[in-house]
Amino acid sequence: MKYIVVSGGVISGIGKGVIASSTGLLMKTQGLKICSIKIDPYMNLDAGTMSPLEHGECFVLNDGGETDLDLGNYERYVNIELSKDHNITTGKIYMNVIERERKGEYLGKTVQIVPHLTNAIQDWIERVSKIPVDSSGEEPDLCIIELGGTVGDIESAPFIEALRQFQFRVGKENFALIHVSLVPVIHGEQKTKPTQAAIKDLRSLGLTPDLIAVRCQEKLDVSTIDKIAMFCHVGVDRVINVYDVNSTYHVPLLLKEQGLIDTLNRILEIDTTTISESFK
Ligand code: ADP
Repeated sequence: MKYIVVSGGVISGIGKGVIASSTGLLMKTQGLKICSIKIDPYMNLDAGTMSPLEHGECFVLNDGGETDLDLGNYERYVNIELSKDHNITTGKIYMNVIERERKGEYLGKTVQIVPHLTNAIQDWIERVSKIPVDSSGEEPDLCIIELGGTVGDIESAPFIEALRQFQFRVGKENFALIHVSLVPVIHGEQKTKPTQAAIKDLRSLGLTPDLIAVRCQEKLDVSTIDKIAMFCHVGVDRVINVYDVNSTYHVPLLLKEQGLIDTLNRILEIDTTTISESFK
C-alpha cells in the first residue's frame, strides 16, 4: 500500500481538496486502485452538527456518514464509494481511545497523546486504507490522505506527529508528501516568503515535502519557481504551479502537464509496466 499525504500551509481553503482529488484521478488513469481518507482536526464527531453557513454543505455518504464536502469531491473525481470511517476527526479518534481506555485495553498504562492517540491514528489509517472502495471489490493500491487545516495549528499537531511516525512505519518508498502553499501577488510581484515560512514550519515538525504545490492567482514566473526550489530545498521539478483556473475540473490536466504522474511514480517507486499490464 502506497500513501500520498496532502497537507497545507499559509491559509486554509487553499485548494488541498481539489489537489488531493486530482492527484487521485491522475494516479487512477494508470490503473491503480485508489482510496482517500480525509482528516478533519475538529472536535465534532462529524460534520452533521455543523452550521452550513460556517462550514458549507455537509456531504452524506451512502452509509449515512455526514462528512466534509471533500469526500464528495473524492467520490466524483475518482469514482469510488467511501464510508464514514474514511473521514477521521479529532472527535472520532479521541472517542476511540477513550472507549478503549474504559474497557481497560491499555492495561494500566497512562494514556497519552503520544504514543496512544498517535498510534490510534496510524492504526485507523492502515485499517481503513485497505477497505475496497470501487466496483473491483479489491484492496486499493494507493491511499490519498488529506490533512485538513493548516500545518502549525494546535488542532492538527497530533495528526502531524502521527504522520511523521507513519512515514517510518510504512517505509520511505510508500510515503509521499505534497504540501500546498500560497504565493500572493502584491503590487504585481509574486511573493515567496509565506511559502518559505510554511515549509520551514513543516520541516520543524519532522515532515519533508516531496512536492510543493503552489497556489497562485496567476502562472508562477520561472524566477519564482527557482526561488522556492532554492529556499525550500527541493528540485525545481518538485514545485508544481497550480494557478487559478475557471473550473476546478481543469486542475487534473494542469497537474498532468507538469509531469505529476511520473514524479509520483518515481518517488513511490511505482512500477508502471506491471500496472499497465494488469490494467489491460
Ligand atoms: P481546502 O481543501 O484547502 O480547504 P478546497 O480544495 O476546498 O480547499 O478549495 C477551496 C476553494 O478554492 C474551492 O472553492 C475551490 O473551488 C477553489 N479552488 C481550488 N483550486 C483552484 C484553482 N486551481 N483555481 C481556481 N479555484 C480553485
